[in-house]
Amino acid sequence: MPDKNIPLVLVIFGGSGDLAHRKLYPALFNLFEQGLLARNFAVLGTARRPWTHEYLREQVLEAVREANPDTELDEHELTAFTQHFYYQAHDVTNPDHYQTLKKAISKLDQKYAAGHNRIFYLAMAPRFFGTIAEQIYEQHLLGDGFNRLVIEKPFGRDLKSANKLNDQISHAFAEKDVYRIDHYLGKELVQNILPMRLSNPLIKNIWNHRYIKNVQVTLAESLGVEARGGYYETSGALRDMVQNHIFQIITLLAMPEPADLTAGAIHAAKQALWDSVIFPSSAMVARNFTRGQYDKSSSTFAYLEEPNVDPKSLTETFVAGEIKFLGGPLAKVPIFFRTGKRLREKQSRIDIVLQSMNNLYGKASSNTLSIIVDPVMRFYITINGKKITEPGLRPENLVYRFSDEDLRQVPDGYERLLHDVLVEDRTNFTHWRELEKFWEYIDTVEDAWLAEDKGIDHLDQYAPFKMGPAAANKIFEDASDHWIYR
Ligand code: NAD
Repeated sequence: MPDKNIPLVLVIFGGSGDLAHRKLYPALFNLFEQGLLARNFAVLGTARRPWTHEYLREQVLEAVREANPDTELDEHELTAFTQHFYYQAHDVTNPDHYQTLKKAISKLDQKYAAGHNRIFYLAMAPRFFGTIAEQIYEQHLLGDGFNRLVIEKPFGRDLKSANKLNDQISHAFAEKDVYRIDHYLGKELVQNILPMRLSNPLIKNIWNHRYIKNVQVTLAESLGVEARGGYYETSGALRDMVQNHIFQIITLLAMPEPADLTAGAIHAAKQALWDSVIFPSSAMVARNFTRGQYDKSSSTFAYLEEPNVDPKSLTETFVAGEIKFLGGPLAKVPIFFRTGKRLREKQSRIDIVLQSMNNLYGKASSNTLSIIVDPVMRFYITINGKKITEPGLRPENLVYRFSDEDLRQVPDGYERLLHDVLVEDRTNFTHWRELEKFWEYIDTVEDAWLAEDKGIDHLDQYAPFKMGPAAANKIFEDASDHWIYR
């Protein structure tokens, strides 16, 4: 059992922000309630606003209540929890402020006998990540115990900027102490991919190109960019969703079996897969990728009309593509992916399509294994059975459902990942070597798009609340293939 009594001071940069409010404070409360946080821990929230300790505590209280609308919370427990919170006004771009912050951390360290253990959580706009990491180092904020850095996405916007950020971080933190969050890796059904693949002969034995025809990963959102147009203009669907979440999901589907379940073995297997990735040529990008922008509807703006978006923007809000590896069990199996905003509904899912075979009964559907990650958690296998009153076959779903009791027990992704940081479990965080390959691949596609130089003509405007541009249905190698989720 991991040691539950790990004293520490947790410094949250961006303590007044949306992520801290909606995700981090409720997650910390859940860990506290379960006794997974030590009694001697302190959380120091920082941001520019001149809040008091008391005001931050009220905000934390409100955040926990909002996250648990249907639960009667133990008020005594809540108050005990919020007493661990402190606030320090801090502008991350002002070096002098780090001296004040340092004193505040030392004071809390003493008060809570926190063993000089520190976790720094960067819940801030990515442009500040490098500066904060450098200042932590230069202004001697590191403690004599452990020092861990938790960093949100995006980690750079291409390989060059990711490299620069990694250099800035690496003065202060060794790779083993950097926890790059990909919150998809905290989701129940994403964490279930490897156990499902490796513990079932029914699945494990067909997990190869002889039986699997293609794999399809869809991360669909119904929202548009809303207030985040400014950020989105520097990113786009490929960088915002494929570079991290989609690539991590594909990695879990296609990586070789690890030697064991340690973080080291799992990262080694992931890296072995990515060492075998086939980088697409420009011709392959032109053939196997498609991108688009959402158009307006009667009640919603087109992407080009959103606030802080350049009316001539070439930023894609939808992308579909294909990736292949030479190694791993799915070597040479086409893996298709797509993600977009303003699609029909929010849905994150994986469909694994099996090769079809001749049979004596006539037309049969492809066997598929579908894993629905969000918003309902479920997976099912589609198989054929006989029609009841006439000749022929009909598809049926064998469904693996989660009971209400199961669902109540599933922790939020952030709760899981924060706990992993506490107990030093790096399994579900992105290693620098994975990230390097992810960016190298994304850069290859972005470069091919730039070289096409056909600008807006290559961005299909797609109707909102459908499944993206029609061209996304034509990226399959085999004309008989189609998206299972339509
Ligand atoms: P936000 O804009 O709500 O919060 C930013 C915080 O930074 C605020 O507390 C603000 O006061 C503070 N800040 C801004 N400039 C500052 C400065 N110069 N000095 C000190 N503090 C300053 O942003 P957010 O939505 O909480 O996102 C934070 C990070 O988390 C981003 O990297 C984002 O990509 C990532 N993320 C957010 C979510 C989410 O649901 N909000 C989900 C996934 C990832």
